[in-house]
Amino acid sequence: MKVHIIGSGCPDARAERYGSAFLLDIGADSLLIDCGPATTYKMARMGLAATQVGHVFLTHHHFDHNADLPCFVLTRWDQSKGTEPPLQLYGPPLTRRFADLLFGEAGAFAPDLKSRVEHPASHECHRQRGGVMPRPGLSLDAHDVGAGKVAEAKNWSATATQVHHVEPTLVSLAYRFETAEGSVVFAGDCADCDALRQLARGVDTLVIACTHFGAPPASPAIVDVITGTPEVSEIANETGARRVILTHASPSYAVPGVRERAVADIARSYGGAILFPSELDTIDIGGKGNAER
Ligand SMILES: [Zn+2]
Repeated sequence: MKVHIIGSGCPDARAERYGSAFLLDIGADSLLIDCGPATTYKMARMGLAATQVGHVFLTHHHFDHNADLPCFVLTRWDQSKGTEPPLQLYGPPLTRRFADLLFGEAGAFAPDLKSRVEHPASHECHRQRGGVMPRPGLSLDAHDVGAGKVAEAKNWSATATQVHHVEPTLVSLAYRFETAEGSVVFAGDCADCDALRQLARGVDTLVIACTHFGAPPASPAIVDVITGTPEVSEIANETGARRVILTHASPSYAVPGVRERAVADIARSYGGAILFPSELDTIDIGGKGNAER
């Protein structure tokens, strides 16, 4: 099992980090968790194709987590041969509406979809890629989901819980994936909360925001909506997570040595593996974590 770090930054566009997105490879299945800005392009830079993804899980509808969804969905459809199963899209309330406003009959991309389905030049491009005719339209199943089991396949199951972030303006979810190779939680954006602690109990790998760190203390308004080093330490210890992967790094982490300071901060009280990868890194999470330290 591998996790590809596609986006591990903030809404602030930086060359080294921008937005949130992760690709989780479980056997032959590839699951996309969040689809922040430039996800499709950054996947291409990593040699990852949109067509290999069958399931997308959105944690919430802040644009640093969903802004590339139209690009990703349209690229996957355009490059498909037409024989692939429909893309399954899961997210909190607003997800179906979001998909409908983009791809529905009156959606923003409806004219482009119609043009590519009907125009002879698009038919030729489709045939040259090995596509079958007549060219099928976009096939997307969007699901509004909440706490509980949200999806299941032969090799994995996905469970969600509602976490504390910026409700009631937006609902935010965290997801846990159970596989034969271990478990992984994507916390999404959230502060320290009981729901996350319950979802992450005993997990092998916890992918969690580490937006702020150490002294001086971050603003209470920030700590109230997203985790930093003190909260990551407490959550990792309390849940018994074997490995943490830190993400959602603020631009201050671009200064040399700051990432190392954040890892050292957490390591003072947490004995599991602590990874703070760069974007476009790929991490093997098939093992049980502690071997890394
Ligand atoms: Zn957010």
